[in-house]
Amino acid sequence: MPGKDYSLPLVVGVDVGGTKIAAAVVDAEGRISGRVRLPTEASSPQATLDCIARAVDGSIQEAGIARNQILEVGLGIPGLVDPQDGIGINSVNLSWQNVPVKVRLEARLHLPCTIENDVKAAALGETRFGSGRGLDNLVFLSIGTGIAAAIILDRRIYRGLNGMAGEIGHAMIRPDGPLCKCGGYGCFEALASGPAIAARAEKELQNHRESTLTGMKVSAESVYTAAAEGDALALEVARAVGEDVAFVIQFMALAYEPQLVVLGGGVPRAGRTFLDPVIQALDRQAEENWVFKAVYKPGFLQVTKLGGDIGVLGAAALAAPSQ
Ligand SMILES: [Zn+2]
Repeated sequence: MPGKDYSLPLVVGVDVGGTKIAAAVVDAEGRISGRVRLPTEASSPQATLDCIARAVDGSIQEAGIARNQILEVGLGIPGLVDPQDGIGINSVNLSWQNVPVKVRLEARLHLPCTIENDVKAAALGETRFGSGRGLDNLVFLSIGTGIAAAIILDRRIYRGLNGMAGEIGHAMIRPDGPLCKCGGYGCFEALASGPAIAARAEKELQNHRESTLTGMKVSAESVYTAAAEGDALALEVARAVGEDVAFVIQFMALAYEPQLVVLGGGVPRAGRTFLDPVIQALDRQAEENWVFKAVYKPGFLQVTKLGGDIGVLGAAALAAPSQ
């Protein structure tokens, strides 16, 4: 770290993804050094664990510090995780089934390791280092290829019985909606994930509607770019998606009364064109519904300001003891 000017303790945060593994040394203020990114070696669970260990070693080396200066390693892992026993129970992205992550990594790294689901870790990262710094109650909603939420209640991750709390991507919000990959119809994920947004635009294009998207390979990104340029079809899709996202946010706001809802994942990176229709729908709901209005304050909904660092910072928050 520059000039060794950092706040103790130092931890390593590891964002374990299906395509890449990112690790970095993080100090108590969320300052990052020694970033390392490796392509995920996914030929076997052991190969992935070796890859994680190399990323951790690499980040400590890059940061120019000694291993014994690291207090702990935190790891955000996609899928279902048992943090108590340190087991990766099920991860489709990593092809993991009951992998003893903690035991194996601790034996290899000689550092204590804490694991958690990546979205739950990100929510904690927001309360430690992001817009929700110092807040006790927060909802984090990740919208990307898939959708999941995480809930912080009284400064702790709320996991539910088996860690499934927040898996609202598969909450059915429109019974007449499209088929979801889980087998259900009208799941939130089948309406508002990146691929679902592209599919909604494709469907409109099949009705021979005129659009700058005609003939293009449609993605959520291209839909929001077209919306930003005033394309009517794309604006209509953005508005419809905004309604569905607002519906879920209103539901979670009334269920948990968080101080803040933070959006993460790839889709909200579109910025205002994504956010504005959501806020317009929420504003309207608040006007119509005084109960919701009571929990919906200005600035209630934000896109994460931690950008691409949210993964490693969330993982670091697992390891950094709370202030
Ligand atoms: Zn589903």
